[in-house]
Amino acid sequence: MKLTAENEDAVILAIDDNQATLGLIDAILRGAGFKNIHLTREAGQAASLYNKYTPDVILLDLNMPDMDGFDVLAILKKECNAEYLPVIILTGEDDVEIKVKVLECGAKDFIAKPFDHFEMLARINTIVSMSAFYKELLLKNKSLDHIVNAQTDSLMSAVKQKEEAEEKLQNNLLHDNVTGLPNRHLFEDRLSQFIAVSKRNKTNVAVIVLGFDNYTEIDNVIGHHAYEDLLRQITVRLKTILRTSDTVSIIQDATSGTALSRLGEDLFAIIVPIFQTIDDIDRIIGRCASGLLAPIDLPDVMFDIIMRSGVSYFPDHGGTSDELIQHANNALYHARKENKNYMIYDVSHDYETKYRLNLMAELKNSLEQDDLELFYQPKIDLNTNRVTGCEALIRWQHPEYGFIPPDNFIPMAEKTGTIRLVTTWVIEKAMKQWAQWRAMGIEFTISINVSTYDLSDSSFVALVKQNLEKHDVKPSNIILEVTENSTMQDPGTSMIILEHLSALGVLLSIDDYGTGYSSLSYLKSLPVNEIKIDKSFVMNMDTDRDNSVIVKSTIDLAHNLGYRVVAEGIENKTIYAMLQAYGCDTAQGFFMSRPLPAHEIENWLIEKKWKFA
Ligand code: C2E
Ligand code: CA
Ligand code: CA
Repeated sequence: MKLTAENEDAVILAIDDNQATLGLIDAILRGAGFKNIHLTREAGQAASLYNKYTPDVILLDLNMPDMDGFDVLAILKKECNAEYLPVIILTGEDDVEIKVKVLECGAKDFIAKPFDHFEMLARINTIVSMSAFYKELLLKNKSLDHIVNAQTDSLMSAVKQKEEAEEKLQNNLLHDNVTGLPNRHLFEDRLSQFIAVSKRNKTNVAVIVLGFDNYTEIDNVIGHHAYEDLLRQITVRLKTILRTSDTVSIIQDATSGTALSRLGEDLFAIIVPIFQTIDDIDRIIGRCASGLLAPIDLPDVMFDIIMRSGVSYFPDHGGTSDELIQHANNALYHARKENKNYMIYDVSHDYETKYRLNLMAELKNSLEQDDLELFYQPKIDLNTNRVTGCEALIRWQHPEYGFIPPDNFIPMAEKTGTIRLVTTWVIEKAMKQWAQWRAMGIEFTISINVSTYDLSDSSFVALVKQNLEKHDVKPSNIILEVTENSTMQDPGTSMIILEHLSALGVLLSIDDYGTGYSSLSYLKSLPVNEIKIDKSFVMNMDTDRDNSVIVKSTIDLAHNLGYRVVAEGIENKTIYAMLQAYGCDTAQGFFMSRPLPAHEIENWLIEKKWKFA
């Protein structure tokens, strides 16, 4: 039986210090058909020959004088970085321990000296095919590596993109997208950290909430883009103030730029960690206010910014960021109400809030039980000196607090939504009164005050229509009074509602004219019939020349635009005469009559209590 090479092209390297052995190996291999045989007696050549031929089989003598088989295995592993060593050890030893050691060093097989040709070729063929298999595996692994690497790369870049997107999202979630400042979430978070530090160190930390007067009106007048621009300009100014101010440089350091945040709408907020006295806060607010003193320049307008602030601090005013922010907001509300530059939170503010909420619940009750009253104030035609109509004004006599002026509870009702019930009650009551008076032979107009809220409530038109029909009221005898500002809260909706109302035949009047932000040209786009000059211009026009000029020119301008003009707040004869001279159409004021209950109006008319003498 003769064994031949299964793969004649296999490369075989034989290392043996004995020339005769090498000759024998060469003869056996060539005889079997192998063609690529390399022989060496120099064990020291092993590495370079390995690198040169990358043999499929290495036949290695274990016992050599300078370097034995172990040394060669170690060198091949180390210097050639060969993970797989296709080494067959040639040895005369039959020591099991040595064989185990050799295998541990990476050799794959043994051939015992003297050689059995058959055994030798069989073992060589096995190692050759194992080598081929290994090489193939290596190649596959390499391409697999390649694929895996490519996939890992694209995965990594996907992960990176996702991380970047998440970071951006995170940033968006924590920052205000108009000004780029930290938003309320981030602010609360930072504030909580400061509170925790203050708790540990037994120090204090204050919150200043800054707000700007009439921001919704500003928003409506200048448009949203310009409003955002305004907010950005305010931000730049506040940042500069906070950066350059010695007082707050400490804040900047401590908060790494988060001293200033935007809480929403027109509200900005500042954290002041560790202040010595309230004077420190006072100084910071003062600097902010003076930094905003110069008007803000926008493409078409210049704006004077009126800043107000509310302050609260840990530990006196709360132990959580939520409480401190709420209380600083509360203080700001009171600063606005009391026309102060800033206010520091006071517990009594909370009682007021509760009082307001209770009051609204009671108002609702009183409305349901019909416990309120409508008073009427006559309107006099300045040409004929005759009564042409009256304005309905709500009166609430509270069982505990006594008379509560509408100026006190109407704004609250507007905030809490209770105004819807008030309006429903007033419309019903006034129209019913109109019908009663007409039945008595008295036919004049009734002016009814309409709130901002009504002009954004689409059911308001239906309410008016229903009552006109129910009480068979002549629509042109009903005048709905709306303020300039109320038409501008939501101009689109207001315009539609006003047009529907006008289509019902009722008349529309602009109340408190001169106190709002609109222009006559804007009002021109609304279906308005009457302008009512605000009493603040009228009440002292006999002594204040500026006001008399304003009143006169408003009358002229309104007439030119086709409006009738009513002046309210006439408290004396002089003013009445002045308005007559200016050509004003209608007058309303204490001089003629205070608002009266319905039955007193009847007497007033019968007895002709008011006569212009
Ligand atoms: P307004 O619509 O401007 O009503 C005119 C206010 O001026 C009334 O105050 C009236 O009593 C007062 N007034 C009239 N003539 C004179 C005068 O010669 N001198 C002075 N000093 N004041 C004069 P009132 O009744 O306290 O109402 C205040 C505000 O409350 C009203 O201002 C109106 O905005 C609101 N209001 C009153 N009734 C209602 C209502 O039924 N619904 C709504 N939504 N608001 C109402
Ligand atoms: Ca009015
Ligand atoms: Ca008014």
